[in-house]
Amino acid sequence: MKRLIAISMVLLLALSLAACQRETPAPAPQETAPAPQATPVPAAGLTPGTYQGTATGRNGMVVVDVTFDENGITAISVAEHEESSIISDPAFERVPANIMEYQSLQMDTVTGATITQYAIISAVADCVAEAGGDPAEWRQRAGQHKQAGADVEKTADVIVVGGGGAGLAAAVSAIDEGAKVILIEKTAALGGNTMLSGGVLNAAEPEWQKGHPADAGEAETLQMFMDMDANAFPEEYRATFKTLQGQLKEYLATDRSYLFDSPELHIINTYYYGARKGLDGTEIYGIFDLVQSMCLNALDTVNWLSEKGISWQPTVSQPVGAMWRRGHTPADYPKGQEYAVKLGRLILDSGNEYMLETAAKSLIIEDGKVIGVNATQADGTKVTLKAGKGVVLATGGFGSNTKMVQEYDNYWGDIPDNAKTTNASGSTGDGIAMGLEAGAGLVGMGYAQMMPTSDLKTGDLFTGLIPRFAANYIFINNEGRRFVDEVSPRDTLAIEAFKQPDGMFYMIADADIAEEAKWLTDPEVEVKNGRVHRADTLEELARLIDIDPAVLVEEMEKYNSYVDGAKDEDTGKTNFNLKVDTAPYYATPRAPAIHHTMGGLNIDTGTHVLSESGEIIPGLYAAGEVTGGFHAGNRLGGNAIADIFVNGKIAGGNAAKGA
Ligand code: ADP
Repeated sequence: MKRLIAISMVLLLALSLAACQRETPAPAPQETAPAPQATPVPAAGLTPGTYQGTATGRNGMVVVDVTFDENGITAISVAEHEESSIISDPAFERVPANIMEYQSLQMDTVTGATITQYAIISAVADCVAEAGGDPAEWRQRAGQHKQAGADVEKTADVIVVGGGGAGLAAAVSAIDEGAKVILIEKTAALGGNTMLSGGVLNAAEPEWQKGHPADAGEAETLQMFMDMDANAFPEEYRATFKTLQGQLKEYLATDRSYLFDSPELHIINTYYYGARKGLDGTEIYGIFDLVQSMCLNALDTVNWLSEKGISWQPTVSQPVGAMWRRGHTPADYPKGQEYAVKLGRLILDSGNEYMLETAAKSLIIEDGKVIGVNATQADGTKVTLKAGKGVVLATGGFGSNTKMVQEYDNYWGDIPDNAKTTNASGSTGDGIAMGLEAGAGLVGMGYAQMMPTSDLKTGDLFTGLIPRFAANYIFINNEGRRFVDEVSPRDTLAIEAFKQPDGMFYMIADADIAEEAKWLTDPEVEVKNGRVHRADTLEELARLIDIDPAVLVEEMEKYNSYVDGAKDEDTGKTNFNLKVDTAPYYATPRAPAIHHTMGGLNIDTGTHVLSESGEIIPGLYAAGEVTGGFHAGNRLGGNAIADIFVNGKIAGGNAAKGA
């Protein structure tokens, strides 16, 4: 959820940050050289007063109030912003403080939060100009620049590389086994893509799901699986499929009033919606052992996370492309942030360590065994980390490395250089490169997922109104026509979206759907910031987005009739929930953006990294988006979080045991 905050950073910077960060873990100790002394600043002849500056950050406007006396800046306060908490907090913490201390707009990069950093600098530069100063001259002044410290060498039982969900789970799980752990994270904050995600974890928990009434159309989906021939599945999946059919037979004989689920349905969903053909004609589907391990361990992992302090919303979720309602969603913090905050804190509380702005560059390999990691800190300090028992690679995918996505692509065919991404900046494929150097095999690298419902302008995941249930998604193109069954796999939705005029579409919501979408964003904030259009009638909404009002009204009337009949003859949609009939009405502009890279290092169910010839590479484990084999050609919404926590937990446990 975006936030609108007013933080006074004058002198009380640290205090006010503590207040707004709630329980953000304290930064890990950093070995850095002392900052150079500020150079004297020329007399400025500024006009004293407080000025307001604005600039565009990652999620929206960043507004700062800057107070000057004749000689320089005496106070900076951030009046408003909507940047993602945790990930952007280091920028809000450091940038105003550095500007004040050095009276300069120059400073080191805040790794992973540079867009926010530049927005703050640019907004302050506006104020400098307003006060009669020269922003260009302020940008030239000697600013904060850290210098590399003395080389650092440390030893632990387990070294975890990457501080997203998989890395955090691996660290905490290794600590459970009594291991001494050091986790390193390339950016200035823990969390990675996990924190930017909705945090929804797919796990079949039939007893809990039974408490939810069935939605229109769900029984038809189950009937579809019931009617399938087991021989349509690869041999290794057939026994599971037959077990599922036995369960379905029983359920379909009931009044079908409650939500059915089973780990077997989860396995079959993952296989069925992930099996795809590449551009080169090869077919791909999830490796049975891996898919089975993920789905059978998912509920235990939810329970393990509960023990670690994660709390869950009582309602089951079905994010876009999840294809079934089995999502567990964290309750205490917005989106995936809860994992980063709570698991990060456990690492510190147990006396272990994470090092931020510390990027692994290579693995240390001795006699074919991985025994450590060479890393570099943001200030250039060299770090050597030796692992007594194992190294876990949890560096995430390569979705923010467009060139790499293009090079491996075997599905889309035409990914433009300026393709937008939902990814955090750290997702550049580092772990894959390091794994390759150690002789690792790769699997499924040609398949990157496009998130169909990304922000049209920025690629961000969660701007606008995003319902909790895919059944409440209603897409129209910019001619006002629906064009797809919105409860489709993500690749289908993206493919159909690309075919629409201008490659974009709108998500339509009424007041009830907007209420339901509050699990992620606040409609008032989204409307205020121009990311959502709102009107009291459908006709007015159509005019706002330049669509023929008669067409939009006709489409929504048709849609409402489909909800009544639980069948949409136009697109084949069968899964429905709310109608579009209560003012006000909303339209959120959307387009696909690169989201999840489904291929990666080849691992076994113990998360050992396998060589090209399928042998275990001693000492090396991997978990999360850096690995491949689970999701094949199309990942289910909610399965990434299942994958990273199930496998992060296994990786940490096995690495700690040297197993
Ligand atoms: P996953 O979902 O698999 O945990 P995430 O994207 O959530 O993946 O997290 C991966 C994390 O790894 C990110 O925070 C990213 O910045 C970090 N990372 C990527 N490359 C490196 C590296 N070379 N050294 C340390 N951390 C890295």
